[in-house]
Amino acid sequence: MRTDERQEQKRVPRLRLRVGAVAESVLRSGHPWLFAESIREQNRAGQAGELAVIYDRNDQFLAAGLFDPDSPIRVRLLHVGKPRAIDREWWSERLTRALDARQGLFDGQTTGFRWINGESDGWPGLVLDRYDRTLVLKLYTAAWLPRLEETAGLITGRLHPERTVLRLSRNIQELAKHQFGRADGAVLDGPPLDGPVTFLETGLRFEADVLHGQKTGFFLDQRENRQQVEPLARGRKVLNAFSFSGGFSVYATRGGARSVTDLDLSAHALAGAKRNVALNAANDSVASCRHELVQADAFAWLDQQPGRRFDLVILDPPSLAKRETERPGAIRAYGRLAASGIEHLTPGGILVACSCSAHVTAEEFFETVRRSAVNAGRRVEELRTTGHAPDHPAIFKEAEYLKAIYLRV
Ligand code: SAH
Repeated sequence: MRTDERQEQKRVPRLRLRVGAVAESVLRSGHPWLFAESIREQNRAGQAGELAVIYDRNDQFLAAGLFDPDSPIRVRLLHVGKPRAIDREWWSERLTRALDARQGLFDGQTTGFRWINGESDGWPGLVLDRYDRTLVLKLYTAAWLPRLEETAGLITGRLHPERTVLRLSRNIQELAKHQFGRADGAVLDGPPLDGPVTFLETGLRFEADVLHGQKTGFFLDQRENRQQVEPLARGRKVLNAFSFSGGFSVYATRGGARSVTDLDLSAHALAGAKRNVALNAANDSVASCRHELVQADAFAWLDQQPGRRFDLVILDPPSLAKRETERPGAIRAYGRLAASGIEHLTPGGILVACSCSAHVTAEEFFETVRRSAVNAGRRVEELRTTGHAPDHPAIFKEAEYLKAIYLRV
């Protein structure tokens, strides 16, 4: 809570909302979002970042959360149950909880991971990633903007990074700039930065473009899948489709792949993949692996290269359903993509199909990929399915997005 909040409260009454029966039970069951359409009464207009207090049908305290007048998710809950002060001590304790949850997950060989994963760690709309000595604080709601100084201060006081970089989701960048003078990619604290930072993941070196890259600069959420791919890659010809900066590829080369082909639409991403392989050239397996870069639309390339065969195909496309209405189309696209991945597999080859669409459930996705394999008339052995990494917890349905299925075809 902002230190000026108490003084402000004297001037204006506390922002009070009342909700109906359905929203009440949803919030009591632990769901962290109150949507605008569920608000029955509101005592006054609220500002981004204000603490909103939510009352139930009987006018009893129900919950408190961060208000965002511009978002359909009007309040992101901080606390449900009995009333209590959301003060500095409360935030400090909440930070301790997130940090404690990562204790023992990583050793010194992994210096890139997520410290805070939004709602699921009790920090709604806020993500904190570590890349060695650089922290990246990413905000997905304007509610954090008026609280930024205090929040960043609390975090840096605890983690003592060399620097902290601010990243802002696209939808709040304008407001951040004009109302709060904050820019995406700004260094909040510490020495300036003009390029990527490097960090370790299970002993492998990677760079992250923390200033401009997607998400916070690297797909930390795929670490465990990359680890699973490493031993599967031994002696194999690997296709890494939607490779981004070659995360899966570097693991595959360390695992002893014969060759690795990175396929991505973005030349920038492929240049990063090349550098990431080079960063690990001290490892003999990495250095001796043939590394090919292909800049193309993966869907089209797979169709146009019917003759090329691989022993391991990784498919990790960007989210194919950004909204609920795109769900059926996304499921069809996942099915087609899996089918073309399978077509390019040698007998005994392995398909690793991933989805990061929150609107497509894990079961829907797994079934779709399994069906593609059956329709291809190939015999299939399901090796495993995976979900979220331990530093990316998901405590409610909308937060669950990442899933992968491994098939031997
Ligand atoms: N597997 C990666 C993350 C993939 S992110 C990792 O572990 O780091 C998705 C990637 O797909 C992005 O790099 C994006 O440039 C790329 N992409 C998006 N659409 C594409 C398309 N039609 N064809 C090929 N690549 C595409």
